[in-house]
Amino acid sequence: MYCPFCSAHDTKVIDSRLVAEGDQVRRRRECLACGERFTTFETAELVLPRLIKQDGSRQPFDEEKLRAGMLRALEKRPVSIERLESAIVRIKQRLRATGEREVRSRVVGELVMAELQQLDEVAYIRFASVYRRFQDLNEFREEIDRLSRSTQPVDDPDEH
Ligand SMILES: [Zn+2]
Repeated sequence: MYCPFCSAHDTKVIDSRLVAEGDQVRRRRECLACGERFTTFETAELVLPRLIKQDGSRQPFDEEKLRAGMLRALEKRPVSIERLESAIVRIKQRLRATGEREVRSRVVGELVMAELQQLDEVAYIRFASVYRRFQDLNEFREEIDRLSRSTQPVDDPDEH
């Protein structure tokens, strides 16, 4: 790491800490030549896997597209941008954690649905209804029933 003040290349790390939910390392460095101190932010260059679409074509992971899709589902819902950003960070971490160079695009869809389910039920239903392209109304009905069951853990004895 070259010193931005005198361009000497002998710099020493004097402090190091994780920031942005562990995605970045903030380093405080000191130049051994001129003694100036400066800060660097380093992000692991772990490449996100490419997405295999349903028709077999490959596309690079597009964070903006992911964010736009989630924002559309969350429109006018009481969810802060911070919570959305944390969800996006988690989705990217899980994609990197696969260690794969390519994953089916539905893997991303499932990760998004899992996050939206935690964030907001209405957003989840909105996203799921578009994403899963429910074959018919019954299938959509079943998903809503499944969802309402999973959010009401108390078992209704009359149901069986
Ligand atoms: Zn220097």
